Amino acid sequence: MIPDKAAIRQAVQAAHADHANDTGGANASYIPYLASVDPALFGVCVVTADGEVFEAGDARFEFALESISKVFSMALAMQDVGLPEFHDKVGADPTGEPFNSVIALALHGDKPLSPLVNAGAMSTVSLIPAASPEERWAKILNMQSAFAGRRISLSDDVNNSEQSTNFHNRAIAWLLYSGGTMYSDPMEACEVYTRQCSTLVTTADLATMGATVAARGRNPVSGEQVFDPSLVPPILAEMTMEGLYTASGDWAYKVGLPGKSGVGGGILAIMPGTLAIAAFSPPLDPAGNSVKAQKAVAQVASALNLNIYNAT
Ligand code: GLN
Repeated sequence: MIPDKAAIRQAVQAAHADHANDTGGANASYIPYLASVDPALFGVCVVTADGEVFEAGDARFEFALESISKVFSMALAMQDVGLPEFHDKVGADPTGEPFNSVIALALHGDKPLSPLVNAGAMSTVSLIPAASPEERWAKILNMQSAFAGRRISLSDDVNNSEQSTNFHNRAIAWLLYSGGTMYSDPMEACEVYTRQCSTLVTTADLATMGATVAARGRNPVSGEQVFDPSLVPPILAEMTMEGLYTASGDWAYKVGLPGKSGVGGGILAIMPGTLAIAAFSPPLDPAGNSVKAQKAVAQVASALNLNIYNAT
């Protein structure tokens, strides 16, 4: 059930006001562009499963989607190759490792552990059926845009910054290839993966993207059916297992909502059937999750009594 709208408005405003002056954490520095974003920016937004938008602060500032892009490419791959084959090729396990770990390639078994860390995310990109890297990229960008309900675009600044520094991810792509879990040219997959991380979204876009999952695959703002409702449970299960990297277990324990973070400072959390909460603030904790966005999302969830393990 969707909470009272006045209560949502109040929760969003309070989460922003209560954490606006918090300090702690540091912008991601391994991608030069991200190091240069104003660390004081802070946005909070809720979009309900019936399409209402509640926002506070810098919710219309565009920032780099980064790892949150993995959710939308995962949905695309699940839809295009089918769930059984997707699960056969990419796992649904927590890695217990940082997002760029080489351990996540295939710790046990012969497939990358999760589509929501770099290794499995690059395998996922390589699985999306396409005749060329440009077609694969167009499909990914169209999917991100459908989730957001507006045309999402690539930032050349972010993309150039990442493509010229992504040596670690290129190494992972070759390891996947040598292990037989890369399904297109590895450098093409890494290049397209890097582009998917380099698109710009606002906090309001992010909440709409999450609300599309909350509303069973139908974007509640645009009205478009973006993906098949049967994909909602596996998408949320993957987010629960690995959405916040090494903090995923603590997040499930304390907040109880499937979530996904990105090193651009965005965090998204989803209460199925109800709403999505998004927040953005660039400074990150050592796990790579935004310090303030985690606090703001957790506060909204708690104020509205939203927790999938306590559903009434
Ligand atoms: N593009 C980034 C990378 O691959 C995304 C990482 C993230 O947001 N955790 O390193």
